Amino acid sequence: MGGVLPHAGSNPALPAIKKYMTTKTKIKDKFHIWTVGCQMNVADSQRVDVGLKRLGLNEEKNIEDADIVVLNTCVVRQSAEDTATGLLGRLAKQKKRKSTFICVTGCMVESTTKTLAERFPQVDLWAKPQDTPKIIENIADFLNLSSDGCVENLIPEKSKYAEFVPIVQGCDKFCTFCVIPYRRGRETSKPLQQISDEINQLVLNGAKEVTLLGQNVDSYGHDLNPKKDLSDLMHSIHDISELQRIRFLTSHPNDMSIKLINTINELPKVCKCINLPFQAGSNRILANMRRGYTRDQFLRKIDQIRQIIPDVTLTTDLIVGFPGETDQDFNDSIELLNIVNFDKVHVAAYSERKGTFAFRQIQDDVPINIKRERLNEVNKLQDKIQNDLNSKYLGNNYEVLIEGKNREKFYGRTEGDKLVYVENLSEDFLGEIVKTKIIDFSPYSLVAEKI
Ligand code: SF4
Repeated sequence: MGGVLPHAGSNPALPAIKKYMTTKTKIKDKFHIWTVGCQMNVADSQRVDVGLKRLGLNEEKNIEDADIVVLNTCVVRQSAEDTATGLLGRLAKQKKRKSTFICVTGCMVESTTKTLAERFPQVDLWAKPQDTPKIIENIADFLNLSSDGCVENLIPEKSKYAEFVPIVQGCDKFCTFCVIPYRRGRETSKPLQQISDEINQLVLNGAKEVTLLGQNVDSYGHDLNPKKDLSDLMHSIHDISELQRIRFLTSHPNDMSIKLINTINELPKVCKCINLPFQAGSNRILANMRRGYTRDQFLRKIDQIRQIIPDVTLTTDLIVGFPGETDQDFNDSIELLNIVNFDKVHVAAYSERKGTFAFRQIQDDVPINIKRERLNEVNKLQDKIQNDLNSKYLGNNYEVLIEGKNREKFYGRTEGDKLVYVENLSEDFLGEIVKTKIIDFSPYSLVAEKI
């Protein structure tokens, strides 16, 4: 990935800050990392957090009290981008008040930051996604600290029970609506050994489950020499003895091979849970999205998966209101939802993303009220489907990895990624896989008791 591009505006401030610090009147040591978007951003932020703590800085919960602010941004939806730009407005005032150092990373950072730097002169550092070492180094420099030993192997000293591990960055697919290939670049896989070492360390630090992350995780390894694939990686990390569960996110229908489906079925630690986005149910819209498959091909892939893994849990992503989507096109999506009965659907209304093919070439012609109606219809249908699916869990036994406690309730997930609140537990069960019996359900979660 590319390098960090410090904004010229940061440099004049540096000598003043260093002088300020050497007077020992006040140490600037409070940082805040603000994160939106996908799990990839969450994982990236976690690594920035580790590096900043190694510099000796302290996490500050309130952004307005922080001396160093890192915004990890997302531009997949307009609302996420608007929130980040709104925050930058507030931070400009904060900077005037207390010389806050502002770094922006994530997908908002374009290949050239010139336009952004002109628009947001308050930003000291524009860092492309995954430029974690450079973020740490620049902040260390700003604070007149040494970053030696602070940027390698950025693994948290205490793991969460379920951790996210980026394994492949970027995407080569160039769907017409998606900005990811322009912001995160072409697919670049981490070496298998590096991932294995990282997971070993996470497990030593307490992790029980890892989710392997990629915008298109199924294409992992094709760019490595010698070539590897996701099955190879799953086999390799399956041997890590204390690791109990392996998940992976997000798949592409064209790259989910029979070999991979068989591996998921055969390896006991790999969760039988697949997120397979279909994005649209109409062939015409799929072609305009350049998804590279037809509706029938997608449905055949679902059949293949279910034949090999009968108890698989399937989730998906769907866009409504893509340019030119007629009532009939939308009904094709609804029909597909009814055919497959997904356990969860991440649905979004289409919004134009600057720089994409759709933004340049296709008019965003579906009115916002129609998009909202379609969103509501999908959510309503999906609530019903999920309620029906979850009702079948009632009275049955499932193993749940207990991940945490929220408002006095312990929660965790089944192998199929169902959120379960488990009654009659104590803190001793945190991080343990417990046997439970399902006693209640809703479209969104299950309630269980330990057995
Ligand atoms: S496959 Fe996913 S990440 Fe890649 S361009 Fe298409 S929507 Fe974007």
